[in-house]
Parts: sequence; structure tokens; C-alpha cells
Amino acid sequence: MAEPTREIETDVLVVGGGTAGFAAALAAARSGLRVRLIEAGPKIGGVMASCPGMPWGGGYPLGHCIGGIFAELTGRLSAMAPPAAEVRPCALENFGPEVQYDHEAATLVMFDMLDQAGVILHLNTFSGLPEMAGKRICAVSAQDRLGPLRFLPRMVVDCSGDGDLSARAGVPYTLGDDRGNMMAVSLTFHMVGADTQAVFAEGDPYFRRFAARGIAEGRLHPDLHKLYLIRGFHPGTVFCNTVTIRGVDGTDPAAVARARQEGRRRCHQVAHFLVADVPGFQNAQMWGLGPRVGVRETRKLQALYRITGEDIAEGTRFADGIVACDNPIDDVMRVSAEMTHEAAVDQGAYYTIPYRALVPETIENLLFAGRLICTDPVAFASVRGMPQYMAMGQATGVAAAMALEGALRVQDVNGETLAGVLQQQGMAGIAGRTLGAAG
Ligand SMILES: Cc1cc2nc3c(=O)[nH]c(=O)nc-3n(C[C@H](O)[C@H](O)[C@H](O)COP(=O)(O)OP(=O)(O)OC[C@H]3O[C@@H](n4cnc5c(N)ncnc54)[C@H](O)[C@@H]3O)c2cc1C
Repeated sequence: MAEPTREIETDVLVVGGGTAGFAAALAAARSGLRVRLIEAGPKIGGVMASCPGMPWGGGYPLGHCIGGIFAELTGRLSAMAPPAAEVRPCALENFGPEVQYDHEAATLVMFDMLDQAGVILHLNTFSGLPEMAGKRICAVSAQDRLGPLRFLPRMVVDCSGDGDLSARAGVPYTLGDDRGNMMAVSLTFHMVGADTQAVFAEGDPYFRRFAARGIAEGRLHPDLHKLYLIRGFHPGTVFCNTVTIRGVDGTDPAAVARARQEGRRRCHQVAHFLVADVPGFQNAQMWGLGPRVGVRETRKLQALYRITGEDIAEGTRFADGIVACDNPIDDVMRVSAEMTHEAAVDQGAYYTIPYRALVPETIENLLFAGRLICTDPVAFASVRGMPQYMAMGQATGVAAAMALEGALRVQDVNGETLAGVLQQQGMAGIAGRTLGAAG
């Protein structure tokens, strides 16, 4: 017998509980809206949950915090006893400081923040088809273990990373670098029980000379020529953001499943190699292999504005800029085995990310945030830090409230007014303000 469909009315439906969806739901709920957040997995965090221990990079352009929900979350973790987060320099060229944190504490605090704001969470719930009424999404189907759900939202924010819902609603998109080449996916793990002083005496964050030997001897896969190892948050731990699998279409579940198993093989290979060959790992063990591969890049939705590499190189500060950024061009193996981190802007400059890059051209009650943002391939390689994605989520949550309050299409929300509201909420370096300047 068919299970009855449960119908749920809500002001805002956020699809996807990654860093973008977390902040979108939180900001919308704090604006007084009824918010439902559906997440396919058992945990919020998205890539954070897939790759536990991944630092938040990009939160400190020119050394100044971007502010907003990112600053609040970092502040809450840092204020714990003992502190559950700290700002550290990044070992890679052209990256500013990053935040290392206790993954479990961060997850707990994020759930608490959503709870305190009144967001209703649907975990292990997969969104399906949108139903359209003219240029509006009037319903979104979903499924949980009790059967079908039908959400009746006034506003939808797609933070799913892959944008299945928006694509099905007819939003045009590009894939990866516009020719379908997507950044590599990764599986991460920790080594625990390491002598980190001995490990990081090496100085090279990529441990290239060891990697070269492992590859030459056939003990490491050739793509492992850079063993990116990061000092973990807790003493004696090393976070291994090392294993990348190229040529995977993150929207294809079969390809993702194959990548996961291949990634698992390579993670074990690296762990054995570290113990056998790299000083400081002799008594260490692998721990906390990620439950899913982290997907960096799939669809980019078409929006009112497409951010270009030129925009960022010129340090453009848009009137509707919602967050500051100076991340390098962090291109992870789209077409070759190389990872590049070229500076995106001149020394001392930063750019802002415009609201219009999160607004579809025609659908009147849909916004998107996170890695769905409309950019060209160069700009995407720079905007893609979790702090920026949290800020995009925050901006769309506030914009959703402005649209509903003013009975506006999302396209008619005034981006400059929005930037002003975000600035009032503590976002730095936008709305005519300069990062680091007094007042
Ligand atoms: C390996 C790797 C290393 C990285 N390193 C760093 C770093 O060091 N520092 C940094 O700041 N950033 C880093 N990034 C970038 C950053 O982590 C991600 O790009 C960012 O987390 C993406 O956030 P998001 O919210 O847009 O999407 P995601 O984190 O991908 O979250 C999307 C969520 O939507 C859910 N979802 C998808 N489809 C549906 C559906 N139909 N229904 C319901 N839920 C759905 C997914 O389960 C997921 O939880 C890295 C990314 C990767 C993959």
C-alpha cells in the first residue's frame, strides 16, 4: 500500500545542510521565518562532515575576519574550555590564516545554533522534484524513512552543492570548468599518535621527497606526489588531506561510489607508507577515515551575474558585495595532476562576492548559495572557502526574509540594502566599508 504523503508548509525550505545551508537556515530563522532544512546525510556540515577535520580557510582576508555567522561560530568554539578552535597560519603559499577546530564540538555547536533559532531539521531526507507554478516553485517533494514528503515553501534556498533541484526546476548550469572537467574529489583521514614535532620538522607541507620515493617504488599511486599533511587540532594528530581522485562526476552516484572505494584503498596505502617511511609516524595509526568523498565542484548555476577571473584579479568590490575574499586560485586537478595556488589579487587587495551571483534569472522564489554560485572556472577556484560559503548562506537567508517581507521577487531584492543589513550583522569589508579600516 502506498504511504500517504505528508504535506508541510514553511516560509523557507533550505535544501542541503553543508556550511552554506547551515548559515542560510540560521539567518532566515533569525529573521523571524519558519525554516525547514533538509539534509540527505545524518549530520550537518556537508564537506565538513564528509572530511572531518577540514580547516576553515579564507575567513581572514588581509588578516581580518569576514565576520557574521562564521565569526560567531569560531568565537563560540574558541570560548569553550578548553578552546575548541584556533586560528593558525596555513602552510600553503598565498593562503591566509585558517581555523582549526574540534570537529565534534563544531558539529554540536552548529546543531545547537540551528535549534536555538528554531530551524526544523530533516536529516536523512532527500529532496526530489520541484513543482512549478509559473515562475515560482510551489512544492518540493522529498523522501525520508517514513515515506514521501511534500514541502510547500514560500521561498527555496538550494545549498545542495550539486543543485539537482535547481537543475530540475530549469535553471541553466555549467559543469566544472565549463567543459565538464571537475576538480578532484578527496577522501581524508587522521593519523593519531604521531610525534608531530618530528613530522613537521620536514618543512615541506607536501612531503614531496618522501612521496617521490613511494611513487618510484610503486608503493604510492602516481597522483600522490603531494602528500598534503596538516597539523591536526588535537596534539599528536595529523590531518591527511592527501588522497584525491580525478575525473569523477560528483553528480553521478555510481562514479562517486567507485571513487569512495578507490579513495579508501589509497588512504590505507598512504597510512602504511607514513608509518613505514616518514619520521614521526612510527607509532601512529590511521583514524577517522571520512564517511564520504568530499566533492569540490559540480554544477554552477546561471545567475543574474557571473563572477569572472578578471573581477577578482581587479579586486572588484561590488555594491551588492556580501562577503570579502582574497583566497588564491586553488585549482585542484581539473585537467592535470597539478594543484595550483596562485594569488588571486594583488598584495593588500581583496574582492567581494556579489548577491546577484546567487540569484537565478527567472525563478522568483529560489536562491542558491555555496558551491552552486555562478562563476567562471578561475573565480570558482578562489571563492570556494567554507567561510565564504557560510557568508553566502547568511546573505541568502537574509535576502529570503527581505523578499518575503516586501512581497518581492528575489531578483528585486536590493543588493545594496542587503549588504547594509549584513554589515549591521557584523560582516566586514562590504557595504562601502574597507576591511581593517576604522569605523
Ligand atoms: C576535499 C576538500 C578539501 C577542501 N578543503 C578546504 C579547506 O581546507 N578549507 C575550506 O575552507 N574549504 C575547503 N574545501 C571547500 C569546502 O569545504 C566546500 O566547497 C564547502 O564545504 C561546500 O559547501 P556547500 O555547503 O556549498 O556544499 P556541501 O558541503 O557539498 O554540502 C551540500 C550538502 O547538501 C546535501 N545534499 C545534496 N543533495 C541533496 C538533496 N537532494 N537533498 C538533501 N540534501 C542534499 C549533501 O548531503 C551535503 O551535506 C574543500 C573541499 C573539499 C571537497
